[in-house]
Amino acid sequence: MNYQDLADLIFPDAKPIQYYEEKYPERNLPEGAIVTRYAPSPTGRMHIGGLYQALIAIAVSKKTNGVFFLRIEDTDQKREVENGITEIVSSLQEFGMGPDEGQISETEEIGNYGPYKQSVRKDIYQAYAKYLIEQGKAYPCFCSPEELEEMRQKQEAAKIRPGYYGVWAKYRNLSVEDAIQKIKNGEQYIIRFRSPGNEERKIKHKDIIKGNVDFPENDQDIVIIKADGLPTYHFAHAVDDHLMRTTHVIRGDEWLSSVPLHLQLFQEMGFKTPKYAHISPIMKNDNGNKRKLSKRKDPEASVCYYSEEGIPPEAVKEYLLNIANSTFENWRRANPDKEIDEFDFQLNKMSVSGALFDMVKLLDVSKIVISRYSAEEIYEKSFAWAQKYDPELCEMLKDKEYALKVFGIERGNAKPRKDIAKFRDVKENIIYLYDDKYFAQTHTYEYDKIQDKEEIKKILQMYLEKYFHETDDKQTWFENIKNLAEELGYAKDVKAYKQEPEKWPGHVGDISTVLRVALTARRNTPDMYEIMQIFGKERIEKRFQKAIEVLEK
Ligand code: GLU
Repeated sequence: MNYQDLADLIFPDAKPIQYYEEKYPERNLPEGAIVTRYAPSPTGRMHIGGLYQALIAIAVSKKTNGVFFLRIEDTDQKREVENGITEIVSSLQEFGMGPDEGQISETEEIGNYGPYKQSVRKDIYQAYAKYLIEQGKAYPCFCSPEELEEMRQKQEAAKIRPGYYGVWAKYRNLSVEDAIQKIKNGEQYIIRFRSPGNEERKIKHKDIIKGNVDFPENDQDIVIIKADGLPTYHFAHAVDDHLMRTTHVIRGDEWLSSVPLHLQLFQEMGFKTPKYAHISPIMKNDNGNKRKLSKRKDPEASVCYYSEEGIPPEAVKEYLLNIANSTFENWRRANPDKEIDEFDFQLNKMSVSGALFDMVKLLDVSKIVISRYSAEEIYEKSFAWAQKYDPELCEMLKDKEYALKVFGIERGNAKPRKDIAKFRDVKENIIYLYDDKYFAQTHTYEYDKIQDKEEIKKILQMYLEKYFHETDDKQTWFENIKNLAEELGYAKDVKAYKQEPEKWPGHVGDISTVLRVALTARRNTPDMYEIMQIFGKERIEKRFQKAIEVLEK
C-alpha cells in the first residue's frame, strides 16, 4: 500500500489538481499588474484597520491596472457572526470600495476565480490536500484534543517550544498501512502537513513593507484540514492565493510570523510564491502612549462610526491615505482637485511601526472635503444622513428651497466656509437660521465691546430705519454699516481706529458685532450680508425686537 491508497481512502471524490489549475489559469494582465485582495473573516463589526487594508490594496491594484478582489474567509465557523458578510460588503460599498471580483452580497459574487467564499471551496482544498498526501507531504493525525492538550502541558512544564513537530509529531511516521487500518476502524483524524523544515536553519524574507526579515524555518506539522473538513487559514491562504492568481498578499502584520510556514506551503505544493506586504496596525496616541486603535476602547475604530457621525467616506479615505503614505499630503497640496485614485501609492513607503491616527486631523480633512460640496450636494448628503439619524434636522431640511439658501452661504466661491466637519454638526451649524427653532430657544446674547443697553437699542433701531435696504449689494450694505458707525461717533475705518484708539469709543467692527449678535445670538457666523439677504427686513426686525426685549428684561 502506498500514499496513493491512503489519499484515495481519505478523499475518494477529490478531483486531480490539474482540473483546478486549468480552470483558474494565469491571468492575462499587463506587465506589472498587481492582483491583490482583502480577505476578512466575517467575525463582527468592521474595524477601520480593515478598511485601511482594503484601501491600500485598491490603490496598488488600480494604479497598475490589476485586480482587487474580496474573499470571505469563513472557515472558522465558530467565530462567525450573523450578517458578518453583509457588514463587510456594505461597508466597502458605502466607501465606494466595491471589489473588481469577489463577494458582492451575502450570497452573490462576481468574477471568474471564485467561489470567493472559503466555506464553499471545500472540494478545492480537499483536492490539494489529497495531492499533498499522494506525495507524502501530508498525513492523517489521530491525536484527540485531550492528547494534544496533554502534550502542550508537558512541553510547557519542560519549558520547550510548543507544537507538533519533531519527536512530538506522533503520527508523522505512522506507516501507511497503520493509517489506513485506523481510518477503516473509524478513528477520528485530521490532516497535517509534513513539514520539511528545520528550526536550526534560517530563511530570509523580503517583505515589501517590513523589509528584510530572518526567521527560523518552520518545522511544525500544522493542521491543514480540520475535523469539519474545512481548511485552516494557512492552507486556505496558500491554495486560494495561488488559484486566484494573487501577486501581492497585503495583510495585517499579525501574519508576518507565519511567513516561513506560508512560503513552505507554497514551495511544497509547487506554487509560485506571491509577494508579501505586512501592514502595521493603526495606532493612537493615548496620553502619550502609542497603542493600537481598539474597537473596545475607541469608537472611531469601528467603520460604522463614520456613517453614524456623518463623516463623508471620501474624507475618511483621504485621511487614511494621508497616514498610510507621508507623500500624500504634498501631493494633495499640489493637486487639490484630483481624485485620490490618481495618487501614486507606494507600499514600500508605509510606516513599519504603525501609522498614527488622529481624529482631529481627520475632521480637518473632512471640513475641506465638505467645503467643496455645492449647496445641493451638502443638502442631499445632510438630508440622507438626517433621515437615518436625526429626525429634527430631517424636518428642518424638508423645505429644500430654504435649505439650499442656508447651505449656499459662503459656498461655491474661491474660499468656501470650512465650518462643517460632519453631518452631525449641521443642525447646530444652521439651527439659528430657522425662525421657529430660533424663537423657541432662550438666548443670552453675548455682546462684545458695546455693552450699553441704550446704545445697542439705538444701533439696532437706526440700522433698520436708515441703513438697511433689501436691494443693496454687498459693498453698499457694508458702506451703510460704516455710515451708521460714523453717525454714532465710531470709527468708520478699523485701521484708523487702531492708530488712534483714544479718538473713538469703538469702530465699525463693534457695530457689526452688535448687529450680528442681535440677529443670530452668536458672535461667530458666516457672512452677515448673506444671512440678511436670506432673512429680509421683516425677519431681521423680528429678531432685533427679540434682542431688545431680552435687553430690557
Ligand atoms: N482572514 C484573515 C484575517 O482576517 C486574512 C489574512 C489575509 O489577508 O491573508 O486576518
